[in-house]
Order: sequence, then structure tokens, then C-alpha cells
Amino acid sequence: LQPPEKPLQDEEWNRLRENFRLPELFEEVMLNSMIKCNSHVDVAKSLLTHMAKRNGDVAYNMLVKYLTLCVQQGQVSEIRDVYDIMKVRFKILEIGAYSLLIKGLTNSDQWRMALTILEEAKKTMIPSRTSYESCIKAANRHQEMKLAFELYHEMLAKNVVPTLDVLQSFFDFSTGMKGAELQKELFGILLYLRENQIYPHKTFMRSIKLWFESIPGGNWRGHLTNIKDSGQCPVCNHQLEDSNLSEEEYNNLSERIIRDVIHGTDTFRKTTPQEFEAFQTFVESRLPFDIVIDGLNVSHIKPRKMQCENLFDAINCLAKENVRLLVLGRKHMLINSSNWKREIMKEMQNKADFFFADNISEDDAFLLYATLRSGKHCKFVTRDFLRDHKACLSDSLTRHLFRKWQRGHQIVLKAMFFSVFSQQPAFRYDCVVQTTGDTWHIPYKDVFEEKYSYRVPRKWLCVQQK
Ligand SMILES: [Zn+2]
Repeated sequence: LQPPEKPLQDEEWNRLRENFRLPELFEEVMLNSMIKCNSHVDVAKSLLTHMAKRNGDVAYNMLVKYLTLCVQQGQVSEIRDVYDIMKVRFKILEIGAYSLLIKGLTNSDQWRMALTILEEAKKTMIPSRTSYESCIKAANRHQEMKLAFELYHEMLAKNVVPTLDVLQSFFDFSTGMKGAELQKELFGILLYLRENQIYPHKTFMRSIKLWFESIPGGNWRGHLTNIKDSGQCPVCNHQLEDSNLSEEEYNNLSERIIRDVIHGTDTFRKTTPQEFEAFQTFVESRLPFDIVIDGLNVSHIKPRKMQCENLFDAINCLAKENVRLLVLGRKHMLINSSNWKREIMKEMQNKADFFFADNISEDDAFLLYATLRSGKHCKFVTRDFLRDHKACLSDSLTRHLFRKWQRGHQIVLKAMFFSVFSQQPAFRYDCVVQTTGDTWHIPYKDVFEEKYSYRVPRKWLCVQQK
């Protein structure tokens, strides 16, 4: 349905509707098409006027569509008009309309009005992430850093997770600005990255570097570098944090995980208590293992290979130096099939201990249990990120320890063209944002990744105060 070029009269709209195959959907389809074609607002307005005359009213969702068009074109006075209409007619709007209004106004000189709308939205809901971010960016752009940080802390308190983009904007707009308070806030963002094991991408890293170097009288200098395997920074010779957990940290962590994640709520244990008990008995009688392998997960590593071959390759790759392997398998692997050949399964069982769970069971709880019970030296292999478990570790210290343990103990297998697998070594130093006060070391990635990845970056920004 092609929107008209110019505003139409009532008869003309009527004619168009009658010729449309679904007349009852005419207005909606027409407005969608106007959004798509970015039609002039006057054309959309003439349809709205026509609707008002015909029905005595314009429905909420039609106003939202019109609003979408106005926001798309930055028609600020129209946005304000629609807001006035909606406020009188509906009192409370829903999240989509609030987000649109805020987005539309924050890009204009009327950005402060967006703050008022954000306040209003907060009375009935948690505003969307984009609403918070639009307001923060507008405040940043107008150098109202204090306000921007208030909104940032507020969104964190409401568990609205900020994007890297908005975090970066704090650094971009604080460049060259003075103030101990501001500096403390920006350090706080770096510590947020640390806490949540977030790695900035290259452009974000550059903003951080520029900001450091621009602090008046700060004497900070940044260099890009690769950390030596020993964990020493070649630029400032500083030794990075050790990846090992202390005895006490490890004991705390494993107790917490076994209690909270494994014996805790059923949400993370999609297995029967009987099966888990059988597994525990099995593990306790064979402890300790050196490497625990999520068999099913690894068997998909090369999609064009037979699954049992993938697993066999992984076992052979890890079986060196008499390490004790535990493979978490599924019962279906024991049934001779095109993907699971009996002879190969037999051969693997000579090289590793196997536990076969019911076909439906989730491996994570098994994997965590066997690895943690084996002790601090034990590592595990899975391509999954164990992300869900982080959420049920209630306090931030335990979460931090869990991530640190994961970084140091998760072996990542990558399918290669020629050799079977390559292993990302477990590093001796901890790949996380870290500071000693007069130095900062920030790992970064070359490319932006929306999805979290268990692969840790190899490149670092070293910033030191002279
Ligand atoms: Zn350094």
C-alpha cells in the first residue's frame, strides 16, 4: 500500500479504504507504510484527522504510530503535541510510547522535557534501557555529568543493564574535564567492567585512553601492549593479578556453588534427585579428576564430523601426561548409531571415565560438581558459558570469584582446519580490568561483540601515572 504524496480529503481517504482488500485494517496498514516510506507528517496528520472525524476518536496505537513517524523525522513540536494529546486522553502511557517520546525529545534542545517524561514513566514502570540511555547521552552532550551519573546509578539500581555505547559516552564527553568527583565516577565505570567481566572493544578502549591522557594535571599515559605469559606488563613491568584463587577463596566458592547452585533451587538442575545422587556416588568413588568434559557439547565442535569422532579427538587431545578425565555423556551415546559408533565409544572408555546421564539432563550441575569436588587444580571443558549460574550467586564477591575461577579453569577447544583442536591456555594472570591506583590495565577486544564470550582477549591497554 503506497502512501499518498500529499494530504488527502475525507472522500479521497474513503475511496482508498474501499479499494483496499482489508478495509478494517486500512488505517493501520497505511500508517505502517508511511513509517516505512518516511512520509511527510502532514500526510499522516490528514489521515489522523480523517480518522477522528470518522470514528470520533483516534486509537492509542494509531497515535503511537504517528509518534513513531514524528520521532523518525525529529519533528519536536509535533512530538510535544502528541504527548499533550496522549496525556489528556490516557493519563498513563505504556513503555513503548514513553520510550518514543524520550527518544524524540532527547535529540532536541527540549531534552530536559524528556527528563520530566522519564520521571512520569518511573511512577508506573521501570523505564526502558533506551530511555535511560537517551537521557544520559543528552545530559552528557550538554556537559551535565552529575545528572548523567545520577541517571546511570539509578538504572543500575533498577537492574537495567547499560550498553557499552552509553558507558563509552561518559568517557567521550568527560575528555579534558576537571574534577575529583568526575574522575571517581569514571573509575567507577572501569570497576563496573571489572565486576561484570566486560571487555571494551577497540574504539571504547581508545576513548578510555584519551580520557586518561586528557585529565588536566593527571600525567596519565596509555600504551597498547600484550602481556607476557608470566603476567608481566612489558610497558610498566607491573605484575598482573594472579589467576589462582587462594585456598580460602576456593573453599568459599566451591561451598557456595555446591550449596546454592547444585543443592539449591531446582531451576538449575533439570535432573531427578535420584540421578544426581547416583552421579555424586559415582564421582566421590573416583575423585579427583584433572579435567571434566561436557561430552555432548564437545561432540558438536565440528558439525561435519561424526559426533563420537569429535569427542574422541577432544579426549586424545587432552589425554596426554596421564591426566584423569571425566566425560559427562548422555545415555543415547551408548546406543549404536550413525553418530555414536560402539567401537569408538569402547575405545574412549579406556581413556576416560564416563558418566551417562538421562537424555534430558542438563550437564552444567554435573560439570560444576565434579570439577569443584576434584579440587583447585581441576579444569573443565565446555563451550557453554555457565551464564545462568552466575545469576543465582547472590553476592558480588562470590560472583567475582566464580568468574575468576571460570577464567582460570575453563579450557576452550577450538576446531581448527588441520590439527584437530587448539586449546586456549588457562592464563597464569587474571584477564580482567585491574588497578593498583597509579596503574590501570584494561583488556580489550578488537571487535565489538554483543554476545558475551568465554574467550578472553589477548590485548591490553596499560595506563600509568607518571
Ligand atoms: Zn603496564
